[in-house]
Amino acid sequence: MPAVIEVRNLHKKYGADVAVEDVSFTVRQGEIFGILGPNGAGKTTTVECVEGLRTPDRGEIDVLGLDPRRDRAELTQRLGVQLQDGRLPDKLTVGEALRLYRSFYRRPADSPALMDALGLAGRHRTRYADLSGGQKQRLSIALALIGSPEVAVLDELTTGLDPQARRDTWGLIQDVRDRGVTIVLVTHFMEEAERLCDRVAVIDRGRVVAVDSPTALTEQVHGGRRIQFRPSVPFEDGLLTCLPDVTGLTRRGDLVVVTGTGDALNAVTSVLARNSIVAEHLRVDQPSLEDAFVALTGNPPPGTGPAVAEPGTEPR
Ligand code: ATP
Repeated sequence: MPAVIEVRNLHKKYGADVAVEDVSFTVRQGEIFGILGPNGAGKTTTVECVEGLRTPDRGEIDVLGLDPRRDRAELTQRLGVQLQDGRLPDKLTVGEALRLYRSFYRRPADSPALMDALGLAGRHRTRYADLSGGQKQRLSIALALIGSPEVAVLDELTTGLDPQARRDTWGLIQDVRDRGVTIVLVTHFMEEAERLCDRVAVIDRGRVVAVDSPTALTEQVHGGRRIQFRPSVPFEDGLLTCLPDVTGLTRRGDLVVVTGTGDALNAVTSVLARNSIVAEHLRVDQPSLEDAFVALTGNPPPGTGPAVAEPGTEPR
């Protein structure tokens, strides 16, 4: 797939403080690309430079063949943005906000359909101040999509949503991608990245420490899944370490721990069966993206665990 965003050696300081040291990545057409990192890693600064809201000190950014600063007016027509702290005036109604935003674009989306898809149908006359936290979040997604963008950048998409609203939003984002929109997702939630993203860039202290699919990241970091068992009869390590998907074998007493990628489980169990070895107490552990995140950044993921919606924010 062709690249729709290319960031090369981005560097950005606020005064003397370096927010982004050296960030490079490519987003391909039609993918959901995640940007993950600890608090203060430089994620928002990076996407704000991509959106043309901030001027990099160094580096090059190409979005849909445009320079975000020089071609800002054209880019605004083709790039949808959900800001991390986007707020609207309290008295503005949902309908007014959508009408206002529609007026900015050459090819606006059908707002009733968008409101339906986002669970905002019937909220036309509701003022911004009277929306629940979840509804405000969904409105901000609607406003990011109202211009029928080719690329949407969503910063903290589901923060503040309850688990059901979060899952609904994931479904919506998948639908949007299936309609051909490329999505860049800045997220704190490992499960969100694991479920939604085709590829993820992990940013730590202003640098990209890894870019890959969530599955490949977990496999790289831990040598893949861990298969442990007690063999019914002794065997030589070489019986399993020669298998292409096996990345390691250790023994703890009579317990054998095999790490491997791809089809390692099938390969290991077939070889054991062919040699009349029974794998007793067989257990398979699949490392998570959270394990990979900790290994890559040395930090626990920000906001570990499901976010809790503010009391009374959902549903309304
Ligand atoms: P979070 O996950 O907490 O949103 P982030 O990875 O998005 O963090 P940024 O918001 O890009 O990180 O911030 C990177 C660094 O730059 C932080 O140290 C932050 O304090 C600093 N920073 C961000 N915005 C500004 C600003 N407008 N002025 C000065 N410093 C800033």
